Amino acid sequence: MRTPISSLQLLEPRSLEEALRMLRDEGPLMPLAGCTDVYVNLNFGILPQTRFLNLWRLDELRKIEMRDGALSIGALATYTRMIRSALLRKRLPILAAASREVGGAQIQNRGTLGGNIANASPAGDTLPVLAAADAILVLRSAGGTRRVPFNSFYTGYRKSVARPDELIVAVEVPPVEGRQWFRKVGTRAAQAISKVVMAAVRAPRPRIALGSVAPTVIRLPRTEAALSGGGSVKEARETLAGEIRPIDDLRSTAEYRRRVCQNLLEQFWSETA
Ligand SMILES: Cc1cc2nc3c(=O)[nH]c(=O)nc-3n(C[C@H](O)[C@H](O)[C@H](O)COP(=O)(O)OP(=O)(O)OC[C@H]3O[C@@H](n4cnc5c(N)ncnc54)[C@H](O)[C@@H]3O)c2cc1C
Repeated sequence: MRTPISSLQLLEPRSLEEALRMLRDEGPLMPLAGCTDVYVNLNFGILPQTRFLNLWRLDELRKIEMRDGALSIGALATYTRMIRSALLRKRLPILAAASREVGGAQIQNRGTLGGNIANASPAGDTLPVLAAADAILVLRSAGGTRRVPFNSFYTGYRKSVARPDELIVAVEVPPVEGRQWFRKVGTRAAQAISKVVMAAVRAPRPRIALGSVAPTVIRLPRTEAALSGGGSVKEARETLAGEIRPIDDLRSTAEYRRRVCQNLLEQFWSETA
């Protein structure tokens, strides 16, 4: 049953500082960005939270710019904004590629990078990109700012090191050396939840990340080492098969996912040669 709207409370901060004060003093509050994930849960009546913090007006969190040599993407940057950013397309084209494959135009206009990260679905399409790019998350509370490597942000299925009084305010991506590669495999080419997503960087030490195969996004250190050590892609395929333990769910079997991951590895390697 739908959650009755009259039972909900919405706080509307006008600045980031005010939002952080509200989180500290008036919590617990659930942040709302584009609301594309939250609304689905509200519609199904499965959201325990009743008090929300609307971030949508905080334009200071939408910027995509260079900061201290890194690409900085505000947490409220939508997929549409990321696709349209020439700077982002130049520095991290695989994030633009992932954004183009998220939902349809409506979801791309509302859904945000911060929401994709905080929602913490293992099928989030941007997450393998951030893992392969060694991104840094900027978390802020009323008490200060801390930076957390994206690859140590998640601690388990839909669990992370973020505290309830913190917001993700930005994602910082240091320069990525090497050819970038991205591929999403779903039931259809558009409007589909992914069965497997791979993002990778062809560098002397390749960086390979997978989404939708484990409870969280994962990097493949053994497969990366096999390739950087001069092993053939055939050997790396075998290493990969032993390195992952794919999930088995209604979208796909574990065996199918393992095979697709191996094929994607081979495709990445040949297309970036
Ligand atoms: C029809 C449909 C199709 C979709 N297709 C895809 C797809 O192809 N690929 C994909 O990856 N996803 C897809 N999604 C999921 C969703 O659109 C994305 O995860 C989106 O990025 C969520 O962003 P949002 O701003 O709407 O988040 P919201 O719904 O506003 O929030 C999601 C979660 O993040 C938290 N949150 C949001 N912003 C912050 C912040 N700055 N700091 C801390 N916490 C925060 C919220 O409290 C909530 O827990 C789809 C959803 C729908 C409804």
